[in-house]
Amino acid sequence: MDKDDARRQIEKLREKINYHNHRYYVLANPVISDAEYDALMKRLADLEKEFPDLVTPDSPTQRVGGQPLEGFEQVRHEERMMSLDNTYSEDDLREFDRRVRQAVGDQVYVVQQKIDGVAVSLRYEDGVFTRGVTRGDGLTGDDITANLRTVKWIPLKLLEGPLSKGVLIVRGEVYMPKEEFERINKERDEQGLDVFANPRNCTAGSLKLLDSRQVAKRKLAFMTHSPLRPEGWKSDSLYDLLEAVKQAGIPIIPAMCRCRNLDAVLKYIHDWDSERQGLAYAVDGVVIKVDSISAQAELGHTAKSPRWSVAYKYQPEQATTKLLDIQLSVSRTGSVNPVAILDPVFISGTTVSRAGLFNENEIRRKNLMIGDWVLVEKGGEIIPQVIKSIPERRDGSEREFRMPERCPVCGSELERYEGEVAWRCINRDCPAILKASLALYASRGAADIEGMGYMLIVQLVDKGLVKSIADIYDLTREQLISLERMGAKSADNLLKGIQESKTRPFERTLYGLGIRFVGATGARALVDRFKDIDELMDADLDELSEIEGIGPITAQSVRDFFENPRNLELIERLRKAGVNFSTETIEVTDQSFAGLSFVFTGGLESMSRDEAGAEVLKRGGKVSSSVSKKTDYMVAGVDPGSKFKKANGLGVKIISEEEFLKLLEGK
Ligand SMILES: [Zn+2]
Repeated sequence: MDKDDARRQIEKLREKINYHNHRYYVLANPVISDAEYDALMKRLADLEKEFPDLVTPDSPTQRVGGQPLEGFEQVRHEERMMSLDNTYSEDDLREFDRRVRQAVGDQVYVVQQKIDGVAVSLRYEDGVFTRGVTRGDGLTGDDITANLRTVKWIPLKLLEGPLSKGVLIVRGEVYMPKEEFERINKERDEQGLDVFANPRNCTAGSLKLLDSRQVAKRKLAFMTHSPLRPEGWKSDSLYDLLEAVKQAGIPIIPAMCRCRNLDAVLKYIHDWDSERQGLAYAVDGVVIKVDSISAQAELGHTAKSPRWSVAYKYQPEQATTKLLDIQLSVSRTGSVNPVAILDPVFISGTTVSRAGLFNENEIRRKNLMIGDWVLVEKGGEIIPQVIKSIPERRDGSEREFRMPERCPVCGSELERYEGEVAWRCINRDCPAILKASLALYASRGAADIEGMGYMLIVQLVDKGLVKSIADIYDLTREQLISLERMGAKSADNLLKGIQESKTRPFERTLYGLGIRFVGATGARALVDRFKDIDELMDADLDELSEIEGIGPITAQSVRDFFENPRNLELIERLRKAGVNFSTETIEVTDQSFAGLSFVFTGGLESMSRDEAGAEVLKRGGKVSSSVSKKTDYMVAGVDPGSKFKKANGLGVKIISEEEFLKLLEGK
């Protein structure tokens, strides 16, 4: 194919993909399957790989994120980014309506859901997304274009139409769908990191990341509510402009409605109050705007907010209940966290009986005593929170909570790491930590021990049968049968599961060790770089921090883990039991590739990549899945992936399959 053909094809593909993005994100009405969509994307990516100079920043392939930034540049907004007046009261809405009508006569209102997200301003020039900025102080904000490019809901190129020429500015909300929020928190919890309190915090935190590749991993979404009127735009209706923006491919907040009077607005508010819980995103209110753009201009604004718009906020659902107790839970990382035990109460569709209290300071700040009546809230937020106590209802029977100096489970003295609020039990034998560690080790992403659920782990630890992860490999049939609810058959199945857990891939057994900050992804990154646990144990801080996806804190944590003699002993015992801690199962027959590191990309014709990798290992060489300066050879097969480009940039020697075969033969 010559270059002109390629250019034409690439343009056609991009147009098609943009069209389908519009169907998917804007209209929520896709007309092709995910597989068909992926096929289009792959064809485009392949063509762009073949003709790299045809890659443009607005191509749908350019969403994976780029090099980390040093910091964000400050950018002045084209037009001041105001914030809206908020109210919880319908009377305030009537007052707003009265003032509007007094100034500019009867008006039509545009109403939309208010999304609990982070406000940003996007700029398109001749249909191409060129810049995205945070609200900041309203006059200037941070240039977060690189991060926003990774948000699939933001089209990089607009569909052909009246808005695809000239400059278009749209303002809207970046937000995190509830499901994604839960996924991220679960992952962070597994890694021993603090969880985010609500989707909004998580979104704000994500947009502040300097490494857009990290942002790309969090599936943020975007919807607009406020386009600025482009130059030469004739219609006076905001509603029409929003419709045009939607036609151009930018998602607008759904369920937009044109209301002829305030009663219609109030009906909209009430209707959505009950429905919003079922939405995929958090809605915390309704935004009301005057539809006529000329009337908006006439109404003007106060020092901080427009006079033609107001936000009605739903009362977060609250309830009062009794704080029965404050219990302590010990996490896998040893942090001792107070948990409020509540008299069960029904809020926002769920029964709430527990709520995290984070730490002792939080309890003081909220003035909580055990036995207090407390106000509990569960808003657009998913995690219920204790807001405050109601001291007026105290009768003298309440008692103060004191953080104990010793671990509530094992009794050893608690310690506090510098710069942390949480108290920790640092006793590695602490049954609470052991139970949590075993649960991680036996979990599906780790050693995956069929039949070893949490209730069983509790029994094993409490009966003293297991004092270390390694002890599970010494369990006997008799011991298991002696446990509650354990028949001969389930004991045999469990023993089989324990046997099978020894052969899990290295990345999973490594993850199962529960090294602080090393989650499933981190373990994979380490295994890509080190072929077995001996190499990993020998790695120094520099080597560790060089690995993509392993930051300095994780690197230090890995070092600390392997410097602890108890952990070394554990690994030794697991290894003796036959647990796999290596990527290699191949016997080395000669040393002709000793010291050489290979990376494969693309498909090979004479053998599979696994087979090719095995040939390298047999000769004492190393196979890595990612390219670095230390890579000696990149073997490029058919359809090489993004690694190819990277290898090129690093000056790594790239060889064909044929040349690789010659190397194998020793030529
Ligand atoms: Zn303890």
